[in-house]
Amino acid sequence: DLEIAIKSSFAKVVIVGNGAVGKSSMIQRYCKGIFTKDYKKTIGVDFMERQIELEGEEVRLMLWDTAGQEEFDAITKAYYRGAQACVVAFSTTDRASFLAVKRWKKKVEDECGDIPMVLVQNKIDLIDEAAILNEEAEALARELGLRLYRTSVKEDLNVEQVFSYLAALYIAE
Ligand code: GDP
Ligand code: MG
Repeated sequence: DLEIAIKSSFAKVVIVGNGAVGKSSMIQRYCKGIFTKDYKKTIGVDFMERQIELEGEEVRLMLWDTAGQEEFDAITKAYYRGAQACVVAFSTTDRASFLAVKRWKKKVEDECGDIPMVLVQNKIDLIDEAAILNEEAEALARELGLRLYRTSVKEDLNVEQVFSYLAALYIAE
């Protein structure tokens, strides 16, 4: 079936969360394998891709980045349009970003409906400066019905796992 073949080959993935949690860095890490401290923000909506193989199926993930306009709560509809999976990210050192998670999830659901989603606590390398208790993060994940991954984009910890999990959810749909 052609429709099924197409569905399982491409997935638009959006990455939401407050500014500076590491969304652009995560995309760059996953798609290019690099981490740079001074990542230049993209102008306007853009994406990077990576192809992975999962259970014998090729999946092309298109990871859409924002231009940093999330600080102004002004991500355009074009960003969300057609998204098939989503990462909701917050930072270990930024409590406001943790408190904003529910709002981000709701926003994605309003725009995209019920799509595969995963919760990511990034910057776990800065655990000594944590602004969130582990139990709090786990409780939120449970409440929202999302799997929680703790990542360090900087140290390349668990980033692959986030997207493999998301791709698996997407394929299983
Ligand atoms: P965005 O606004 O969510 O796209 O965040 P950026 O990707 O621009 O990252 C914001 C800042 O956090 C940058 O200075 C990154 O280098 C830094 N950063 C991203 N991920 C990590 C991480 O895992 N650990 C640490 N220590 N810094 C990170
Ligand atoms: Mg960014």
